[in-house]
Amino acid sequence: MEKMEFEPVIGLEVHAQLKTDTKIFCNCSTSFGAPPNTHTCPVCLGMPGMLPVLNKKVVEYTIKMALATNCKIEHESRFARKNYFYPDLPKGYQISQYELPIAQFGYIDIEMGDYSKRVGITRIHMEEDAGKLSHDPGRSISFVDFNRTGIPLMEIVSEPDIRSPEEAGNYLRQLRSIVRYLGICDGNMEEGSFRCDANVSVRAIGAEQFGTRAELKNLNSFKHVEKALHYEIKRQKEIIFEGGKVVQETRLWDPVANRSMSMRSKEEAHDYRYFPDPDLLPLVIDEDWIEAVRETLPELPSEKKKRFITEHGLPSYDADVLTASLATANYFEDCLKIFPESKTVSNWIMGSLMGLLNAEGKAIEQSPISSQNLAQLLRLIKEGVISGKIAKVVFEGMAKTGKSPDKIVKEKGLVQVTDVSAIEEIILKVLADNTKEVDDYRNGKTRLLGFFVGQVMKKTKGKANPKIVNEVLKEKLGK
Ligand code: ADP
Ligand code: MG
Ligand code: ZN
Repeated sequence: MEKMEFEPVIGLEVHAQLKTDTKIFCNCSTSFGAPPNTHTCPVCLGMPGMLPVLNKKVVEYTIKMALATNCKIEHESRFARKNYFYPDLPKGYQISQYELPIAQFGYIDIEMGDYSKRVGITRIHMEEDAGKLSHDPGRSISFVDFNRTGIPLMEIVSEPDIRSPEEAGNYLRQLRSIVRYLGICDGNMEEGSFRCDANVSVRAIGAEQFGTRAELKNLNSFKHVEKALHYEIKRQKEIIFEGGKVVQETRLWDPVANRSMSMRSKEEAHDYRYFPDPDLLPLVIDEDWIEAVRETLPELPSEKKKRFITEHGLPSYDADVLTASLATANYFEDCLKIFPESKTVSNWIMGSLMGLLNAEGKAIEQSPISSQNLAQLLRLIKEGVISGKIAKVVFEGMAKTGKSPDKIVKEKGLVQVTDVSAIEEIILKVLADNTKEVDDYRNGKTRLLGFFVGQVMKKTKGKANPKIVNEVLKEKLGK
């Protein structure tokens, strides 16, 4: 086959675990970490004849998500049984939604730096989680914990609108940011409260039809999603270049070997024999309920981002980074209350603070430097109490001790020298010690100014006010 340009086509299925106190169809607790099989009852253990009762909070949370992703909420939807046998599924079927999901036809906009793009949301539906199997590596024995059966999940299915692994990553980040703002899900991929399956195919650029897709599973971090997609796109392109055909299959990502392996082909795919669950009535949602939930929506990441641009005058990039998490956005706005120069605050948060937090593996909620302390530091610089250089020292001090910048400046005697006569004295000494450089400077080597500034700073341990140093130096050097 002749080489031509191919593009990937990607659609994502995300399972978000909802943070309700109780399970979706019974009153068992959803709290994590209890001894195995203690959060169970006849309903979530799938005993015959037990009747599920829908948790209203699950519906409310899903309505929130549907509104936040511009979906149409159906006034009537249905629960369906997805039938299959597996030891973690005691009923022999999972209660899910199939033909009539709670919400459809939505979208979210994602930011890609040099372009933004709209990704369609095909549908959102509710379902119950299955139990958790664990396998004893030493013996041929497996264990099942039913604490997880009946934990509410919300599945969000995207249109095949995504065109690169990076877009897939940003789509997921945006979705996670929304569920976190809404407070309906932890959004933790590593811990499995936010899971993603990725469907991917490739097609010749300009082709109308989609290619045959593979579904990738076991992607439990953003990094894995992007890596697995890159790998799969390359694999499919190579098959086509070699004249072969991509087969429809489910593939498992192996993050250690950095490759995927076939798990099952289309022929082996399950026929789930979906049918409406006769134990549950159709779910009816009226306009009043939708409006009542709409009232409770917080400012969403995309709205906050727009406001940060218009109200605080931030560049789009800064606004994007600062609104990615609610805690970061709040930290930023708390700083502004004390030090209302938005771009300076943004630079310090995105630069020094995020650098520090990354290095220590901490979230901004655990920052050793409070927003008040960071803002106060910026004030000290602005008022000329300390120089930019000394500010770095104070910043490090705050990071280590959590103390206020005033305290650190006082304790370490870091106040900037702004006394002109004191600076003059030091400058005269520096010039007397470096007569050759002074001659060179006067003969036109004005680049040496930096050298003199450096000498003065060295003598004052960086505490001399640089503006005054420059002015006095030029005066004394006669240029
Ligand atoms: P299934 O029920 O088998 O998972 P769906 O039709 O619900 O299949 O699609 C699941 C996901 O696959 C959706 O996110 C959709 O956008 C995506 N998808 C469908 N066809 C393709 C394709 N040819 N290439 C890439 N993704 C696709
Ligand atoms: Mg699927
Ligand atoms: Zn239960």
